[in-house]
Amino acid sequence: MSNAQDRLESIRGRIEAAHQRFGAPPDVVHLVAVSKTFDSAAVRPFLAAGQRVFGENRVQEAKAKWSELRADYPDVDLHLIGPLQSNKAREAVAVFDVIETVDREKLAAVLAEEMALAQKVLPVFVQVNIGEEPQKAGIAPAEAVAFVERCQHVHGLNVVGLMCIPPDGVPPGPYFAQLKTLADRAGVTQLSMGMSGDFEIAIAMGATHVRVGSALFGARPRHTTE
Ligand SMILES: *Cc1c(COP(=O)(O)O)cnc(C)c1O
Repeated sequence: MSNAQDRLESIRGRIEAAHQRFGAPPDVVHLVAVSKTFDSAAVRPFLAAGQRVFGENRVQEAKAKWSELRADYPDVDLHLIGPLQSNKAREAVAVFDVIETVDREKLAAVLAEEMALAQKVLPVFVQVNIGEEPQKAGIAPAEAVAFVERCQHVHGLNVVGLMCIPPDGVPPGPYFAQLKTLADRAGVTQLSMGMSGDFEIAIAMGATHVRVGSALFGARPRHTTE
């Protein structure tokens, strides 16, 4: 089994190759290393190897793990990539640097309030339920553009882009392309899409952030992936 440095180099190499091959903007594709379910000891080698952008899907887990890790690596950039309940918005604003999962009016309002209280303006992504799956979080595609506008102009959030998790078991390319179209219509430039199994396709469709977990850290128990 290869070490953290080798895995990072391999994934970064694949990101770079996909980016060059398809020749699409953006200038940079950011690697969000998804460290959910892995403890701080498992994350440290990736920090030591220079990775600074990480994704977590649970507020409590991230709070415990990253209060320790941030003491040694104050320049980490921590993204919330899992669903957020309004009653955890305060903690989320304290723990995370970027919230990728804004998907409903109430959450947008509460996040705006908590950011004002904390005197922070965190960049956020609006999560789109791109496959319109009942079990998945995200705003419906048909409502996404208007929702981005309300997040910006009613709530004053700093919406930088859109995020999606396409349906399992079908080719993701058309979903990524649709997210890109929605982002263009909404006037936002960043696209968080693509995971271990499909990040190269996402890059071909214009991803600016790919969220890679198992290809870096190894397999997780199945029940923790959603
Ligand atoms: C777990 C997770 C990932 C990473 O998935 P892998 O297939 O392990 O790369 C990416 N995005 C979200 C929202 C996740 O919950």
